Amino acid sequence: KQSGRGQYSFYSRALAADARLKHIIEHKLSETIRDKGFHLAYQPIFDLTSGEIVSVEALLRWSDTNIGPEQFVPVAEATGMIGAVGGWLLDEVADQYAAWQNMNLPPLPIAINISVVELRDHEFVDRFFESLAKAGLPPDAIQVELTETTAMDDIEFKIGQLSKLRSRGVTIALDDFGTGHSSLTYLARLPVNKVKIDKSFITGLGSNSVSQTITGAIVALSRNLGLDVVAEGVETQSTLEHARALGCQQGQGFHLARPMTCDDFDAWYRKYLR
Ligand code: C2E
Ligand code: CA
Ligand code: CA
Ligand code: CA
Repeated sequence: KQSGRGQYSFYSRALAADARLKHIIEHKLSETIRDKGFHLAYQPIFDLTSGEIVSVEALLRWSDTNIGPEQFVPVAEATGMIGAVGGWLLDEVADQYAAWQNMNLPPLPIAINISVVELRDHEFVDRFFESLAKAGLPPDAIQVELTETTAMDDIEFKIGQLSKLRSRGVTIALDDFGTGHSSLTYLARLPVNKVKIDKSFITGLGSNSVSQTITGAIVALSRNLGLDVVAEGVETQSTLEHARALGCQQGQGFHLARPMTCDDFDAWYRKYLR
């Protein structure tokens, strides 16, 4: 009984702390949106055969905090603030792409993360192309990674949104494939051309035969569907070799390159090009 009550108060305190944190995030987030207090980290994605960089993923950072996107993006979605954040982000990556062009760096497609919640917004597609047009960019400058935080409702509408992007040449990846809501149904129904295998499978390559079997099966399936496969969470040389041997065309992870601020990325990229 004692320990039962202890447990209860542990959970209730944890829940209260969680609710308080959400409340703080919610309050601070609107200030941050107003003050443009976000920045992006850029992480390279490589072709595992040639070793060449093929694109770069933009990861959202809340400046001057240690609160990661996994904590604040769901709050931004639940409160409807994600639209404002996403609008800022689109302009930011479009400007970044144009800045690389102006610096005579070979521009790289920038992949952005879009949650299914953002796809509910009827304005999303128009805003996407407006941001590109404003910066004078072609549709293949920005790629979309579809990340899921909730099960997808109104799938027909979302297929429509994604098809509008696809038909104009935007690359769409299904993120975190194999986990949570990122399932075979989506692979079958959504107009995607790339699959990112979740790092929980990639980490186990070489030591966990189940991860190995699942990764191999995802690669075979994707190949039959004509989709590219990206291994995420490549943290060691051994993982890299296993991912490559299993047929993953692309890879991303701390072993290859970490997410970097845009200045650090510039410096890293120049060195890489030399
Ligand atoms: P994700 O799209 O799967 O992004 C990859 C996450 O794995 C990033 O964490 C990245 O820093 C981390 N990562 C990269 N390489 C490695 C590795 O080798 N090992 C390990 N352990 N981790 C690695 P981050 O930046 O904290 O992002 C977490 C998630 O937050 C993202 O997962 C994505 O779902 C979401 N997110 C990030 N930025 C945005 C955004 O702008 N909009 C939306 N809607 N979601 C975002
Ligand atoms: Ca992603
Ligand atoms: Ca992912
Ligand atoms: Ca994720």
